[in-house]
This record gives sequence, C-alpha cells and structure tokens, in this order.
Amino acid sequence: MRLGADEQDSVVLILGAGPAGLVLANILRAANVPTVVLERRTREQVRQRARAGFLAPDSVAVLREHGLAAGLDARGRTHDRCEFRSPAGSVELRYGELGAGQPHTVYPQQDLVTDLIAEYLAGGGVLHFGTTVERIEDIHTDRPAVLARDAAGAEIRFTGHYLAGCDGARGISRTAVPTTIAASDHGITWLALLMQAPPAGEAVIYGVHPDGFAGQMPRTAEVTRYYLQCDPGARPREWSDWRIWDELARRLDAPGRPAPATGPIIERGLVRLRSRILDPIQAGRLFLVGDAATSISPSAAKGANLAIVGAQLLAEALIPAVRYGKGDALQRYSEQALPRIRRAQEFSHWMIDLLHPPAGYGPETAYRRELQRARLHNLATSRSHQHVFADNYVGI
Ligand SMILES: Cc1cc2nc3c(=O)[nH]c(=O)nc-3n(C[C@H](O)[C@H](O)[C@H](O)COP(=O)(O)OP(=O)(O)OC[C@H]3O[C@@H](n4cnc5c(N)ncnc54)[C@H](O)[C@@H]3O)c2cc1C
Repeated sequence: MRLGADEQDSVVLILGAGPAGLVLANILRAANVPTVVLERRTREQVRQRARAGFLAPDSVAVLREHGLAAGLDARGRTHDRCEFRSPAGSVELRYGELGAGQPHTVYPQQDLVTDLIAEYLAGGGVLHFGTTVERIEDIHTDRPAVLARDAAGAEIRFTGHYLAGCDGARGISRTAVPTTIAASDHGITWLALLMQAPPAGEAVIYGVHPDGFAGQMPRTAEVTRYYLQCDPGARPREWSDWRIWDELARRLDAPGRPAPATGPIIERGLVRLRSRILDPIQAGRLFLVGDAATSISPSAAKGANLAIVGAQLLAEALIPAVRYGKGDALQRYSEQALPRIRRAQEFSHWMIDLLHPPAGYGPETAYRRELQRARLHNLATSRSHQHVFADNYVGI
C-alpha cells in the first residue's frame, strides 16, 4: 500500500503516552511488534505531570519482567505502613507485615514516565508528541485509523492493524466504544498539593476529621503530596500556604504523633472524586487500557497500577494476534481485565466511605458516622480486618 505524505501506517497505534501507553509500547517494541505512540502534549509537559506515586508489587513485577524498572529500583523507596488519625486517636498499620506481606514502592509517576519514554525511544520506538487524535475510524475493519493534528496544525491519518486507547479519562478513544457505563460522582473534592518538605514520618497518613479528609502521601525525601477535602467550588489559588498548613495541622492532629511539615506549596490543583466502569472495554480492533477504560478515584492509589497491569494484559493478547494471527486472547481481553477493575473500584469506594465525613445533618448522617467509626475500630482492633485491608490496599 502506498501512503501519502500525510498518512502513516504501523501495526499497533497507541493513543496516549501515560503509564498505560508507554508500558504497552515498550513491551510490544521489545517483542518486535511495530508501534506508533501519539501524544497530544509535549515531551516536557508529559515528563513534568506529577500524579501517582504508589506502585503495587504486581506493577513493579511487570516493570521488572520487561526490563523497565532500572529507575525505580535505583531511586524508588519501599513503603509498608499507613496511619489513620481521627479525634479518637491514631492507628498505625504495618501492612507490609499483614496479609500477603507485601509493600508498595514509592516512585513518582513523572519519573516512571520519563524512564519509559527514554527506554522506548532508545529502542527505536516512534512517539509523536504534540499530536492530538481527533477522530477514530474503521475499528470494525482490519485497518482501523485515526485522524490526528500535529503541533503545526497539519492533519495526519495514521493506520494500523490494532488501536490501543490509552488516552486517559478525558481521551477520545472511550467514546468510540459502544459500552455500558456504570458511574458515580462521589460529591467530594480534594485540593491536591505538592509541598516542598519531607513527610512527617514514613507513613501515609489518612486524617479522618469531621471537617473533612486530609492526607499525607510521601513522594521523595524533599517533596510530599498532601490532600485536603474542600468545597466543590473551591479555587486552589484562594488557599494560601498559611491556610493550607493550618488546615493540615488541625485535621492531621493526633496526640504524640508528628505534625505535618510546613514548606512552600509548589503545586495546587483540584481532584473531583469520580468513578466510572465501562463494559466492555473493546470494540472491533480498538482496546481501552488504564484511565481510558476505567476512571477511579485516587482514594486507594489504584489508577496507575491498573494502567500498568492492564497494559501487560493487552500486550500479551496482541503479540500472538500479530505474530501468528491468533486472536483468542484479544477476544477475551475485556472479560479478563474487568474483574480486576471491579475489585479495585470496590476497594476505592470502601476507602471513600472510610475517609470522608458523611455529608448532611440529622439521624441518617449520624448513623453513617457511626458506621464509619465502626470501620475504623475494626481496622484498629481486628487482625482479620487488617489482613483483608492489607491484601486489598497493596493488591491489584
Ligand atoms: C493527584 C493524583 C494522584 C494520584 N495518585 C495515584 C497513586 O498514588 N497511585 C496510582 O496508582 N494512581 C494514582 N493516580 C491516578 C493515576 O495518575 C492515573 O490513573 C494514571 O495516570 C493513568 O494512566 P493512563 O496512562 O491510563 O492515563 P494518563 O496518565 O492520563 O495518560 C493519558 C495520556 O493520553 C494523552 N491524550 C489524551 N487525549 C489525547 C488525544 N486525543 N490524542 C493524543 N493524546 C491524548 C494525555 O495527554 C496523556 O498523556 C493519581 C491521580 C491524581 C490526579
């Protein structure tokens, strides 16, 4: 087939250079499956986007198995404890010693993405930054295509044998899959903050406070992520550094426990807690991975992990299809991926109920507050609850 100057062909077209797209691209490239990655942002923008940090053991295993873990093995930190603080006191759980006895690895998402881009390009991978996919076509034929626009405004048509929609929660690919949508807007908003300061101790801290949730998530020795539940209409700029420090100190206060540090707030944004499960996550030759397949609230730090593990699942189905024309695993991709997605969503939802004060007044709200106290009490006192928590918290 001859292609025009504004037309390019490959085998697997990957939409989006986040964790899902880049893990998929690296695995396929190492298996000699030709890939092209299309990413609307510039390389610098992608490398600077601070988001996740907590990698589950299964995600780390995927990265190690495919030779993608040099950075996290060198600079990632093992993390195995979390603490729940409330006006009733503090409970620390060493989840690395509970359940299956596995820790997290803390490695900032932007560092992982930087490593994955470098690895892919060093191996000869093709990645078009500044290229926005505007339309998806022909997914029920053997040559699906996308229409994209590059940074100079030129339109390019890319064709492939398969499309991988790894373009995140606001991408275009999920709109091309006829699917049922199960969704929840939890009515909860967080200020998501990065503070130039070390964490107060090694633990993740969940502050379960009547005025709203507050959380501390260690990232590096110099930078810590904090969350503060706020009004849905809040404007991050209206929150001065002083107001943030005060609110964190109040909501994370517990007798005898270290107070959060104070340091310059170097990033402030809003995260609205929303969840969405699509079923199925494939149509014709288009397959969704990561946030494109499911939006999950960051309450249990599952999103990047679902993206990494889902990318491996799709790669393992694509390789036999491309090499030997064996498409059985591809046909089953959605049914294989969805149980893990549902389990992560269920645990994230449980965490939302655990961490946030029930909204409203009256006996109904008071009743739900009593249930929240019971859940915290179970975590503090029941070994079997602690084991189940640890398995769900670290597992993916
Ligand atoms: C504040 C915060 C903290 C978080 N903490 C954690 C955590 O600790 N652990 C965890 O597991 N998860 C966490 N998450 C979630 C995690 O960051 C996401 O789940 C993860 O980024 C999903 O990866 P992805 O590759 O599916 O999508 P993304 O990372 O969103 O990547 C999608 C890419 O597609 C590109 N794109 C979109 N549309 C187009 C288009 N039309 N054309 C071309 N390119 C396009 C985007 O620019 C983007 O680069 C957090 C999220 C937030 C916001």
